[in-house]
Order: sequence, then structure tokens, then C-alpha cells
Amino acid sequence: AKAAGRNGIRVFTPDLRQAVQRKVRVAAELREALGTDQFVLHYQPIVHLPTGEVEGVEALIRWQHPDGGMVPPGDFIPVAEQYDLIDPLTRWVLGAATRQAAEWNRAGVPLVVGVNVSATTLASGTLVDDVAEALASSGLPPERLIVELTETSVAEDPERAAAQFAALRISGVEVSIDDFGTGFSSLGQLVNIPAGVLKIDRSLVAGALGRRSQSAAAIAAVVGLGQACGMRSLVEGVETAEQLALATELGCTFAQGYHIARPMPADELMGWLSARPVT
Ligand code: C2E
Ligand code: CA
Ligand code: CA
Ligand code: CA
Repeated sequence: AKAAGRNGIRVFTPDLRQAVQRKVRVAAELREALGTDQFVLHYQPIVHLPTGEVEGVEALIRWQHPDGGMVPPGDFIPVAEQYDLIDPLTRWVLGAATRQAAEWNRAGVPLVVGVNVSATTLASGTLVDDVAEALASSGLPPERLIVELTETSVAEDPERAAAQFAALRISGVEVSIDDFGTGFSSLGQLVNIPAGVLKIDRSLVAGALGRRSQSAAAIAAVVGLGQACGMRSLVEGVETAEQLALATELGCTFAQGYHIARPMPADELMGWLSARPVT
């Protein structure tokens, strides 16, 4: 815990010192990991609700730590952001995801791949070039890539976000607003943001136990808001058949969640796709 000393000056307590030491260690290990291929992407299927087809996947990073454990992104992305490692990490993710999707494309499985980009990278201004570079070296058609940015990162600087989104979309890359419903964007902001997909945060879906619940009303409102702005919507965190049915009923375009499939390694995805019953 951090303790505020006299005059609001922060005093290092043993806890805080430990937390800082841990972050410094993780940052050093991350720097090492970037050079030695310790990251892997898992892919979570996204279903197009009107047809039931798998439209694409979201790429989610994991760190195969040399100590043997698989480290989830929540444990190292914030450290990467804080220690100036997020841009190289994002370039690695863009490279790996576009190479993988290009390979699927050549194999006759034309999936769209979604890549998460943090607010820090949006602020550093290298995103548009990094995306172009990944597309050029992988040969992936731009229409097969989606860049995901959170509502909160867009709200930090809507004008900068709008400019970069516009550049990406002109190049043919789609943009989605992630974790929507947690950042309190105004309608005025939303209409000025050139994004194609609204990803409705799973906290909204978790509360949507019935068609007449408040959360269901909130989801319906977000879907309508998206439609009014020319955007399609995706419900995240779909864990039950009821939630999937509700998403369909409320007019969402896409769904993603454990009820459909968990994120999985690339080689498992092909097996999962071919085992999936045709609907
Ligand atoms: P996110 O972008 O909102 O990704 C969705 C997260 O929800 C993933 O967690 C996914 O495994 C999890 N999830 C999917 N379906 C369900 C469900 O039905 N129920 C529940 N409870 N969870 C579900 P994960 O992989 O641990 O990623 C966490 C966050 O880390 C991501 O949230 C994203 O913000 C960040 N992240 C992941 N990969 C990357 C990356 O390559 N770059 C950056 N900058 N951030 C990443
Ligand atoms: Ca995401
Ligand atoms: Ca999300
Ligand atoms: Ca999230």
C-alpha cells in the first residue's frame, strides 16, 4: 500500500518497495523475453450471429515464462506500458497475428484477426506505420485485420484517436472500440469516432440475466447507439446459452465468450473449427 506522508509526499513503505522491485524485475525479464521468443498468441473465436458462422478471432497474448508458468496479459501488459516496452510488444503481436492470419487465408480459412492495442501506443503515434509494416511483411489483406482500442483509451484524447482511426480505415483496416460501456463516452464523442465495431464489455452481459433486466436494456441501448453511428456491435463474455440467445434477440452482430470457445493456440483452432457443427 502506498502511504502519503506529510505535505502529501509519498513515503516508501516496505509493501510499496516490494511492488516497485517486482515491476522492475518483470520489466527486465520482459526486455529479455522480447528478444527470445517467449510470447505466444491464443485465439478466441468470434461468431457472426445472423449466420452462425465464425467471422474471425481475437488474438490474446500469453507469456511463456522460462520458469515454466504461462503468465496472463493482465500481469505484464501494465508493466510493459509503464517501462516503455509496449510499442515493441505491440509490433510483435501485430507481426505474429498477421502472419498467422495470412497463413489461414492461404489455407482457405479467411478469418479476420483482432489485435489489442494499448492507449500508450495510440499516444506514441507509431500505430499506423506499425500496422502498415505488419500488413506489408505478412501479405495479409487489410480487410482481415481489426485493431481493438478500449473506450477509455479513446476518451483520453478523442481527436488523436479519431485521426489515427481514420488513417487505419482508409488503409482498409477495421477499428473496434473495446470494453464499451465502462468508460462513459458521450454520444457526441461516439459519433465523431470513425470505428466500425462496438465491443460491449462483459460486465454488462454478466448482469443480463433476463430479457427485461436493466443490463439487457443497457445492451439494447448500446446496440441502438452503435447502429445510429453506423457501427456493428459485439457482445463479449458470453458464458451461457441464455446470454447468447439474448445477444441475438437484442440485435447484436457478433458474440464472443467461453460459451462459444475459450482462447486457444493456433493449431487447436483449426481442429475446433472443423469439429464445429454447421448451423
Ligand atoms: P480484452 O481485450 O477485453 O480481452 C478479453 C478477455 O476476456 C481475455 O482475457 C479473454 O480470455 C477473456 N474472456 C473471453 N471470454 C470470456 C468469458 O466468457 N468470460 C470471462 N470471464 N472472460 C472471458 P485475457 O486473455 O486474460 O486478456 C485480458 C486483457 O489483456 C485483454 O482484455 C486485453 O485488454 C489485454 N491484452 C490481451 N492481449 C493483449 C495484447 O496482445 N496487447 C495488449 N495491449 N493487450 C492485450
Ligand atoms: Ca480486446
Ligand atoms: Ca474487451
Ligand atoms: Ca478488458
